Amino acid sequence: ASGSEENDVVVIGGGPGGYVAAIKAAQLGLKTTCIEKRGTLGGTCLNVGCIPSKALLHSSHMFHEAQHSFANHGVKFSSVEIDLPAMMAQKDKAVANLTRGIEGLFKKNKVSYVKGYGKFISPSEVSVDTLEGGNTIVKGKNIIIATGSDVKSLPGITIDEKKIVSSTGALALSEIPKKLVVVGAGYIGLEMGSVWGRLGSEVTVVEFAPDIVPSMDGEIRKQFQRSLEKQKMKFMLKTKVVGVDTSGDGVKLTLEPASGGDQTILEADVVLVSAGRTPFTAGLGLDKIGVETDKVGRIPVNERFATNVPGVYAIGDVIPGPMLAHKAEEDGVACVEFIAGKQGHVDYDKVPGVVYTNPEVASVGKTEEQVKALGIEYRVGKFPFMANSRAKAIDNAEGIVKILAEKETDKILGVHIMAPNAGELIHEAAVALTYDAASEDLARVCHAHPTMSEAVKEAAMATHDKPIHI
Ligand code: FAD
Repeated sequence: ASGSEENDVVVIGGGPGGYVAAIKAAQLGLKTTCIEKRGTLGGTCLNVGCIPSKALLHSSHMFHEAQHSFANHGVKFSSVEIDLPAMMAQKDKAVANLTRGIEGLFKKNKVSYVKGYGKFISPSEVSVDTLEGGNTIVKGKNIIIATGSDVKSLPGITIDEKKIVSSTGALALSEIPKKLVVVGAGYIGLEMGSVWGRLGSEVTVVEFAPDIVPSMDGEIRKQFQRSLEKQKMKFMLKTKVVGVDTSGDGVKLTLEPASGGDQTILEADVVLVSAGRTPFTAGLGLDKIGVETDKVGRIPVNERFATNVPGVYAIGDVIPGPMLAHKAEEDGVACVEFIAGKQGHVDYDKVPGVVYTNPEVASVGKTEEQVKALGIEYRVGKFPFMANSRAKAIDNAEGIVKILAEKETDKILGVHIMAPNAGELIHEAAVALTYDAASEDLARVCHAHPTMSEAVKEAAMATHDKPIHI
């Protein structure tokens, strides 16, 4: 269908940025083709990221609850077992259903789909080596680069996806490692560490920085780390990996304090390297058409997502900004709205971030450290789930809601939640921030009882006045 006919929009990459941009473009009446090399749609997120990780987080959480919590609710088993292949099969089924679902959405919206590796031959032509083995040229008045990101390794560490794995390998281990070392305490490392920790691995997280998840509010981070430590996750902060030996059965890591000093050896069966992700533009031919990249390989764009080459745009993980699926989707929609002559907008200050461990940690807006650094006078309101009736009813009351508001105007600046379902609770805060609400506005919204969301209301009450239940 794409062939040599000219498209209004060609999207390279079928991840959350690319496939959403393609569907939206078609909905806006633009003739659209999406090129994807993977063979399935959904990108990193659906194939080897957000979705399979959440599937395993849920399955491993159920196992952990069955072992440690069900008896408290009077539900007893004589034994609980893990069937790892069945757990992986459920994850694979979820992924397969969702990727096929996007193909269905492409058909419904009349987006042409070309399976293959795209490479620029001019700012309006992409040569595609198709997965079937041929080559086709796809032409477009506008071309959107949505090629996403790839796993980043560390100097001197080679990922073999067996003993030294990336997140992709950690989503598909065939055995539960006795000892798992996670290098990098970002959200991906903590999520995957949680999965295998719940299934029985001894998990040690090695991090160069002094803190886990550096973007998190400091106070919440401390509570979060304590919670993970209670779950037996060990942390070695301010520590660097200086050597890796895979010659024996397992892996021997040589560690050194970040500031230098005595070396120690840490043994592992499997090492997960989760040291961040890097923009992916290999083989795309950016140099051929003159698209600039920055020092770390990202493609700079203006507020309309236009690169320095007219008619060529970029969105998602391949441009600066938070490397998150929902941010990529927002970019995609705004980018094609501009192409269609409409207005688009993404406010990167209001992109929620969620760590899907248990408890989850979710936030939107500024941390207390950021507010302080900006010299803004502020108030803080907090409410612990220990004082929330629903959390007590279900015997899961770990966590807190913390709200930061500007002192003078009461405008909400940031909301941070640690709770089992924080990733769902955060959205009323995102709505509040988007509408520039004051903490009093949020406090005056009638919240259903008994819900965990009432803790958000009470924290808002605590911000501008006093809470009732503590
Ligand atoms: P990608 O999803 O990387 O998609 C880019 C696509 O382009 C790929 O499918 C690639 O094959 C294709 N491509 C690249 N080059 C070419 C080419 N030349 N020709 C054709 N096709 C090409 N984010 C969240 O928001 N929530 C989460 O819970 C979450 N969990 C994650 C867990 C893990 C383990 C990982 C690794 C990531 C997670 N992320 C999560 C991040 C999220 O996956 C990314 O932010 C998101 O996928 C970025 O979308 P994108 O469309 O920019 O790029």
